[in-house]
Amino acid sequence: MRFTAKFIPPKKYRGSAFWFFFKQDKLLVKRGEGIKALPYIDNTLQHDVPYIRFQYLGILDGEHCFSAQLADSFKPGPGLYLLSLRKLYGLVDESLFSLARRAYLIVRWDQNNQYCGRCGKLTHDSSKERAKVCACCDLIMYPRIAPAIIVAVMRGTRILLAHAKRFKNNTYSVIAGFVEPGETLEECVEREVFEEVGIKVKDITYFKSQSWPFPNSLMIAFNARYAAGDIKVDGKEIDHAAWFTAKKLPLIPPPMSIARELIDWFVEKQR
Ligand SMILES: [Zn+2]
Repeated sequence: MRFTAKFIPPKKYRGSAFWFFFKQDKLLVKRGEGIKALPYIDNTLQHDVPYIRFQYLGILDGEHCFSAQLADSFKPGPGLYLLSLRKLYGLVDESLFSLARRAYLIVRWDQNNQYCGRCGKLTHDSSKERAKVCACCDLIMYPRIAPAIIVAVMRGTRILLAHAKRFKNNTYSVIAGFVEPGETLEECVEREVFEEVGIKVKDITYFKSQSWPFPNSLMIAFNARYAAGDIKVDGKEIDHAAWFTAKKLPLIPPPMSIARELIDWFVEKQR
């Protein structure tokens, strides 16, 4: 499916469209799978879903796409239900899931930036780009993404996996953390691994990235090799960490995560 991002809605628009309606973090879907799961509204001006504000997203396979924020009091009508984005994964193809993630981030950004963060006056949509502008002090507010690194550290045939205190079960995963202002991604990888488990790393190489809208992260994944140090967990975020071989892995994260992709890559590499 081909998607072209746009931000200015079509003029005098009366046709059908795909609508990504969100009530908090839940998407309004129809009973069905794939493209059928998304609300497809024949006439945007007369549809019966009361939204607070809407945003234009662009064109998917020739169809206009919109996102909108629903009131907290909204109750889905017959044949419709609300589904968290996490549960949408696997129900629709990757391009639709990606568009749903984008829609969610834009709805949230729109909701959180109605007022200027500097002077407190009302903002309006920019006519030049996807941004909100303060008419009073000219501050521009773009949709905000929080970059976070995630890294598979390897030592010979073993991988470093850690158990975070916040994990509800006995899952072990790779190290991850948010990038601090002014920091490069490589510096962030070195700092996070050292802070959480006391290990120095080298040979940091890019793996891939994943948009993770819970709440608004961009996960940038790396591989790295052990350089020095002994495992010493911070005791705050991480309560246990160890080196594991591909044959004796602990419980690891589910397939939809980039953490799992990194671990699967490591396992594949050991064959
Ligand atoms: Zn302002």
